[in-house]
Amino acid sequence: MTVWDDLVGQERVSEVLTAAARDADALVTAAATGGPPPESSKMTHAWLFTGPPGAGRNQTARAFAAALQCVSPDRALGGVPGCGFCDGCHTALVGTHADVTTVAAVGAEILVRDMRDTVRKSYTSPATGRWQIILVEDAERLNEKSANAVLKAVEEPAPRTVWLLCAPSLEDVLPTIRSRCRHLNLSTPSVEAVADMLVRREGIEPQVAAAAARATQGHVDRARRLATDPAARERRAAVLKLPLRLDEVGACLKAAQELVDAAAEDAKQLAEEMDGKETEDLKAALGAAQGGRLPRGTAGVMKDLEDMQKRRRTRTQRDSLDVALTDLTGFYRDVLALQLGSRVAIANADAEDVLERLARAGSPEATLRRIEAIAACREALDRNVAPLLAVEAMTMELRAG
Ligand SMILES: [Zn+2]
Repeated sequence: MTVWDDLVGQERVSEVLTAAARDADALVTAAATGGPPPESSKMTHAWLFTGPPGAGRNQTARAFAAALQCVSPDRALGGVPGCGFCDGCHTALVGTHADVTTVAAVGAEILVRDMRDTVRKSYTSPATGRWQIILVEDAERLNEKSANAVLKAVEEPAPRTVWLLCAPSLEDVLPTIRSRCRHLNLSTPSVEAVADMLVRREGIEPQVAAAAARATQGHVDRARRLATDPAARERRAAVLKLPLRLDEVGACLKAAQELVDAAAEDAKQLAEEMDGKETEDLKAALGAAQGGRLPRGTAGVMKDLEDMQKRRRTRTQRDSLDVALTDLTGFYRDVLALQLGSRVAIANADAEDVLERLARAGSPEATLRRIEAIAACREALDRNVAPLLAVEAMTMELRAG
């Protein structure tokens, strides 16, 4: 399995990236052997990956990073860089390669202080002599200051530095940054391609794989989660039962509370898994004495970590709510399809009787209004409206009748 096998339904993008990785390899080899640099090259120092959620922007960028760091001897024999097994590929994929730095938003924004060390690193030469790679997931979350820091670095890159930026769409990235990047847009993979990946890579039963792929409509990670995690299946089943319960105000408020509580529980679990260890690690690094007393002047660093953890908790809760909202949108899209007499594209085939009931009970206009209410809830959450308020407003709108 090469690193390119991880990309689902992105043949054109894979072609562009493998060609670039080959040329990048030729550049490194020429420099190492003192040979003349190749006359033309498909390699460039800044890339922007866009595409809808679940299409695999980050995985694609990471696969490319691995291919750029690939040291497999097969390369010299005409093999495609990105074997997936060599030390370069492996460490880049698991996130331990010294010359691959990943920046991901922990909160609503990537702050300039989160970017500072990375930008500094981007001006240095790679430790292993290949490429210094900076992978920015969620580039849409760069705020004004951090985006400007990135812009400067992208404008004057060190010779062996490669920036890989990922964002949902071009409009999410500062025009001055995107004009310096080679842009690749990923498309939503087909349901068949996702199901096929689940069978091949994860060893999932074809029937389960097909159901998970259909239910998540080309969202690769969610399909994988649904196919492999019983808790995720349970959660989704509960969300899909929700529309039938929303008959009166009390039920709407209760349903909203349940949705928000479930998301908060996810955030709490993640925090329990990560916060304690991070805090202990940092204390150890700062040289905490026996009894946990920290040296003078380190309180600020601890405070930074606590801030980050708090932002991450909020973000996890948002992301978890977002999954529920996506499921609900898919559900009402199915209701609408049935109301319009189209049976082909039903995502939630497992809930068909409920879908039929709601389709008969209402009009397409009412269904559209509900889909809009879910979108409005998502926008409110983006604007930092308190989650419970936003979700309550939505469940009230979803009420039958
Ligand atoms: Zn390799």
